[in-house]
Amino acid sequence: MKFNTKTIHGGQENTDPAYNSVMPPIYQTSTYSQSTPGGHKGFEYSRSGNPTRAALERAMASLENGKFGMTFGSGLAAIDAVLKLFKPGDEIISTNDLYGGSYRLFTQIFEGLGIKFHFIGMQEPSGIEKYVNKNTKLIWVETPSNPMMNIIDIEAVSRIAKKHDLLLAVDNTFATPYLQRPLELGADIIMHSATKYLGGHSDVVVGGLVVNDRELADKLYFIQKASGAICGPQDSFLVLRGIKTLHLRMQRHCENGAAVAHYLRSNPKIDKVYWPGFEDHPNHDIAKRQMKGFGGMISFSTKENSLESAIRIVENLKVFTLAESLGGVESLAGHPASMTHASIPKEEREKVGVVDSLIRLSVGVEDEEDLINDLKQAIG
Ligand SMILES: *Cc1c(COP(=O)(O)O)cnc(C)c1O
Repeated sequence: MKFNTKTIHGGQENTDPAYNSVMPPIYQTSTYSQSTPGGHKGFEYSRSGNPTRAALERAMASLENGKFGMTFGSGLAAIDAVLKLFKPGDEIISTNDLYGGSYRLFTQIFEGLGIKFHFIGMQEPSGIEKYVNKNTKLIWVETPSNPMMNIIDIEAVSRIAKKHDLLLAVDNTFATPYLQRPLELGADIIMHSATKYLGGHSDVVVGGLVVNDRELADKLYFIQKASGAICGPQDSFLVLRGIKTLHLRMQRHCENGAAVAHYLRSNPKIDKVYWPGFEDHPNHDIAKRQMKGFGGMISFSTKENSLESAIRIVENLKVFTLAESLGGVESLAGHPASMTHASIPKEEREKVGVVDSLIRLSVGVEDEEDLINDLKQAIG
């Protein structure tokens, strides 16, 4: 099956043996009757497994061209499950420009449990090796990164991971499997905040993992069951429904993203525009090679370069909604320094470019002209 067909049918064979319903039913149940102790039809308790969740897990794995999927109550719960593979003394090398919640989980929960993190720039993958030692277990990559839209060469990082026998995990939330499939580029674990593009309608908080290795999958299924941060049946259904239009939405996100990025670049009041589709983006060639398109996420700063200028713009927007999150059908604007990235110290933030005037856009699927007119009037 090719990708567009998979968004609709991937992993969805025979999801309702009772009535052949076309959509998987929402199995809103905690438990399943057994004919004799252990005599069940594959599900015994909904923390360990639920048919609606299983349908979503198969769909997610299918889209990533992976074998095993597991879903969680949020993207961060999925990351939390990955980190529980490790023990005190283990070391993890992570990109330094990453989702603020991931950074908070790493530094404020897992550092306290004895795991050591190195946050580094990975645009030059050879720089990673300096940080590898006998305790290193995992490389954590976010590409495109949030909010600076840096692109990391997944294949090059995976060669380093394999050479040193490390796991490579990629947060694929921004790109989605429509644009980029990290397992095919050598990654071991894919993580998703399905809250974003996979769900696509800003109506659910869900996370997911996809892996190919059976042993790794078994460990993660065990953590999912033992720690219990599972995705519920109703939420599973909503993400399954969202996934069915992923390819259509992503195509429009990419078109509108390109139009908005070029408009912003032409506006004399705007300073920098971060979007991997520009030919002079420092990692444009890698983006072109490993992604099918450039997506709808864009960040920009103003020439005035003040907190006030950013606040004025986001308050003036009318079609774009000022809100956290991204990846829904509606266009959203955010102010990373005070919203998504407020948990990262100002000094750390500014080192990677998250200045006070930076605005991040999640360009939705509305009419391009309305989006550009809205930015025009808001920037003034
Ligand atoms: C939102 C997000 C997360 C966290 O996901 P939740 O579903 O909000 O827990 C992780 N990584 C990225 C890139 C995100 O955008």
